[in-house]
Amino acid sequence: MALNGMEIYKMLPKKNCKECGFPTCLAFAMKLAQGGTQAEKCPYMSADARAKLAEATAPLMKTVKFGAGDRTYSLGGETVLFRHEKTFVNKPRFAVMFDDSMSEDEVSKKINNINSVNYTRISEEMYVEIAAFRCSTGDKQKFISFIKKVMQTCSKVVPMIITENPEIVFSAAEEFSGLGPILYGANEQNYEAMVGIAKKYNLLLGVKAPDQANLYNLVQKIQNAGYSELLLDAGGRNLKTAFDDMVNMRRTALLSQDRTFGYPSVAFVCDMTKDKMMEVAIATLFIEKYASIIILNDMDYSMALPLFALRQNIYTDPQRPMRIEQGIYKIGQADDKSPLLVTVDFALTYFIVSGEVERSKVPAWILIPDAGGYSVLTAWASGKFNAKSIAKAIKEFEVEGKLKTRELIIPGKVAVLKSDIEDELPGWKVIVGTREAAALPAFLKDYLQE
Ligand code: SF4
Repeated sequence: MALNGMEIYKMLPKKNCKECGFPTCLAFAMKLAQGGTQAEKCPYMSADARAKLAEATAPLMKTVKFGAGDRTYSLGGETVLFRHEKTFVNKPRFAVMFDDSMSEDEVSKKINNINSVNYTRISEEMYVEIAAFRCSTGDKQKFISFIKKVMQTCSKVVPMIITENPEIVFSAAEEFSGLGPILYGANEQNYEAMVGIAKKYNLLLGVKAPDQANLYNLVQKIQNAGYSELLLDAGGRNLKTAFDDMVNMRRTALLSQDRTFGYPSVAFVCDMTKDKMMEVAIATLFIEKYASIIILNDMDYSMALPLFALRQNIYTDPQRPMRIEQGIYKIGQADDKSPLLVTVDFALTYFIVSGEVERSKVPAWILIPDAGGYSVLTAWASGKFNAKSIAKAIKEFEVEGKLKTRELIIPGKVAVLKSDIEDELPGWKVIVGTREAAALPAFLKDYLQE
């Protein structure tokens, strides 16, 4: 169970020596209780107190990993129930289900869809991370060959092996251990064998039970067997039960401070519906509450766009604005004489502005300086978006070497910057653009005709 600040304080040496970086032992204890510092920062703590504190201040929900190399992913490690309390830290990962009894056509269609979904949104690459392989045939050789075949053509996915047969799991673990697969299928009957395999290869182990109570008991047995790299499944295969499982497990871990359910969990959305739109709708629910792996029947672009966008929006720190990388962005077939606009690095502003520029069909450039990730007026009011920061970006991104134009279109809301920018950038003419992005298409067409 977690300790509060006063309980931690009683275990400290009470020297008030400040060596931990805090003015008093009490201040250190309070911060430690909030998870804002580490026990190791106090050099005078006894080994016994340090061990007790390490256990008591460990995150209530464990962070586990799967995959290998640049395809290593973290799951879990959440500290709050609601994003606005702090932030969610490890986004859920999407999996597509492959069953070894599927037809070749079905398999190829899924592989094509997985391979075609790959795009960047606000500096994040979006793609399917996991291929889930369910062994329905019970034929070990066929299953392993099936996984190999799919993995040969899906370059970025990590395999998730789904079977309750330890013999098949062992062969799959042996064959694919270099890819850091997830082993799924530990149950009441086979958990000792499954734990042995997961331990041997140091792999994430999916634990399943028919309901929450049985899962709770099973997780305790597995923890007692010395393994804690777990992924939980309380058995819900319809929206109501699965949602109840997810919420109860997360509340048990974080509110009741019971680490038995302090592991990430998996949602088999693929088993809840075969309707594509309903599948997307259900998956959105589990992005928010609280699946760490979401298994779908398929993932084409029409599914990926809303799901990845929602995931990105939920799994960003609400206290930090979403920023896009500073630089100069080409819209359409812009050349060195195309119009140059400047706006801020707040992602929402950039996407609205670039969307309107695209809508205008006028090829153009958009310059993004460091504006603190704020909207235009906020950045200007806080001194982050000004003549100096714009001139700095012009130089940093070598705009004068790349473009022949010496005209810069600034947002209408900061028309006041015009003369300052012209002072900072000799030879440049500043054009005051529109106050609202929606007016940009008409503005750009008029601008080209002048
Ligand atoms: Fe207290 Fe230890 Fe910090 Fe010194 S280093 S002030 S003893 S908590």
